[in-house]
Amino acid sequence: MENSNGSRRIILYARVSSEEQAKKGYSLSGQLRVLREHAEEANHEILEEVVDDGYEGDSLWRPGIDSIRRRVSEGGVDLVLATERDRIARKRGYAFVLEEEFREHGCALRALEDKEEESAEELLMRAIKDDFAEYEHAKIAQRTFSKKLEKARGGEIIAGRSPNYGFRYNERRNGYLVDEEKMSLVRRTFEMIGREGKTSYSVVRWLEGVDPFGPTGKGWNLPYVRKMIFNDLYRSLSFEEVKDRVPPEVAARLDPHKSYGIWWYNRRRFEPKRTPPKTPGDFKRKYKPIEKPRDEWIGIPVPDPGISAELADAARTRMKRNKAPSKNGRRYWELSGGVVRCAECGYVMGTTSSGTPTNDYFYYRCRSKYNVKSGCTNGRGVRADALEREVWEIVSSALRHPDRLRTGLEKTVEYRRESLTTMPDGQLARWAAEVQKAKAKRARYQDQEAEGLMTREELRTKLTELDETVDLAEAEIRILRGREKAIRELQRSGEELLERYARLVPEELDDLSPAERRHVHQLLQIEVWVPHEGEISIRLPFVTDRGGFRSEKLAS
Ligand SMILES: [Zn+2]
Repeated sequence: MENSNGSRRIILYARVSSEEQAKKGYSLSGQLRVLREHAEEANHEILEEVVDDGYEGDSLWRPGIDSIRRRVSEGGVDLVLATERDRIARKRGYAFVLEEEFREHGCALRALEDKEEESAEELLMRAIKDDFAEYEHAKIAQRTFSKKLEKARGGEIIAGRSPNYGFRYNERRNGYLVDEEKMSLVRRTFEMIGREGKTSYSVVRWLEGVDPFGPTGKGWNLPYVRKMIFNDLYRSLSFEEVKDRVPPEVAARLDPHKSYGIWWYNRRRFEPKRTPPKTPGDFKRKYKPIEKPRDEWIGIPVPDPGISAELADAARTRMKRNKAPSKNGRRYWELSGGVVRCAECGYVMGTTSSGTPTNDYFYYRCRSKYNVKSGCTNGRGVRADALEREVWEIVSSALRHPDRLRTGLEKTVEYRRESLTTMPDGQLARWAAEVQKAKAKRARYQDQEAEGLMTREELRTKLTELDETVDLAEAEIRILRGREKAIRELQRSGEELLERYARLVPEELDDLSPAERRHVHQLLQIEVWVPHEGEISIRLPFVTDRGGFRSEKLAS
């Protein structure tokens, strides 16, 4: 297909990952210049130049690629051109998906390194290149890991973003030194929990008071304190105990009269949770940490934290006891798992009980007041049995109108799909730009501090602000990317709802076990909102035949 002048209409595409941005020879302008020269020589008509600045090649969900796909689908594009195959995608499968998709609209996808004709050899060559890009990437990762492993075996710490609280890095950033001021707070933490039996909540609040910055400049939270208690860094061992836990040549260098803590390396691996992509573009990856066998762990001795093993163990025992399921465990909570929410702070409500062993009262209640950051003031507890009864009444009556449910579901899916196709690329690009901006600023601030134009303290404040911006932007990006999946989930649960439950007669519905009811609530994606005072409301998605959700007030 050609335009009236006989030249091909093309889109130029360039990409750099955030890593590459820092390196030479990968610049966007460089890629574009080469592409333009080629286009001019071949007398192509350039329709558009599209770039993805700071995006990895292992996902197709990039603002630039997204807008190209849209443009190509509208027709009138003959060719999409990039400098190299791996600019388009690092994985062969992804590039093929795009190629197939574009071909349907009469458009080709090429890299300058490709040849024009599509012989079988050429296709094979291209596939090999795509595979190689993937292989190379994996290999670099492997090499980096091997280097780290070697360092750890030699007794070096692998520095992360910030040191564990109570320690600081030595000059070479390959070993820990005790930060006496902070370590004294860690010791106090162990005493409060291990000896004085203070709750972890109160310890977190105390820590917020004495060091508002906390471990990473963002304050304190429960999970961090919990991890601290169980971390062997904070459990002093004698030389005799340490020497069997670290590599022999490292042990040989230790002082037999001293005590040490242990920093573990190679404890976990991260396994990608992979589900086959159902639609092109769905390449989100999740990782779940899996603990490696104990004999693969590498122990690295660190200076004595000054917390006896006995105190550390006492604190751990306490912590475990706190975590053990309370007597709430005896009851089945139909509305648990994200259904009941605090209308004041938005958090999912927890469960509590009160009363005697023979006469219990069970409540849903907002627990986030114990979370220092939220500071929610909603102290209302809602009787569980009454709330569950009322909610079930509304839900089961909705199930008695399967036709309405089906239409409502279809309308909702349609609506969400529409908003998905009109929304993401602009917003994604905007948030991605925010992340880039913040990263650039970070470097500038550090330069200013190095030149003495800014104090350490000022730098710290600035960096904290930047981190927050980045966190927010990254969260937004995650949310946007999660929508597609949410729609599929909605469709799936809608079908299950209609097939399994909407056919039951009223008596059968009322015979469902609490566990099954809970399942229905989740399929329906209902939300129950509990304000500080006044009416509780329930949000029912797609139970109207117009789509969207219906909102109802509960009496309790
Ligand atoms: Zn709350």
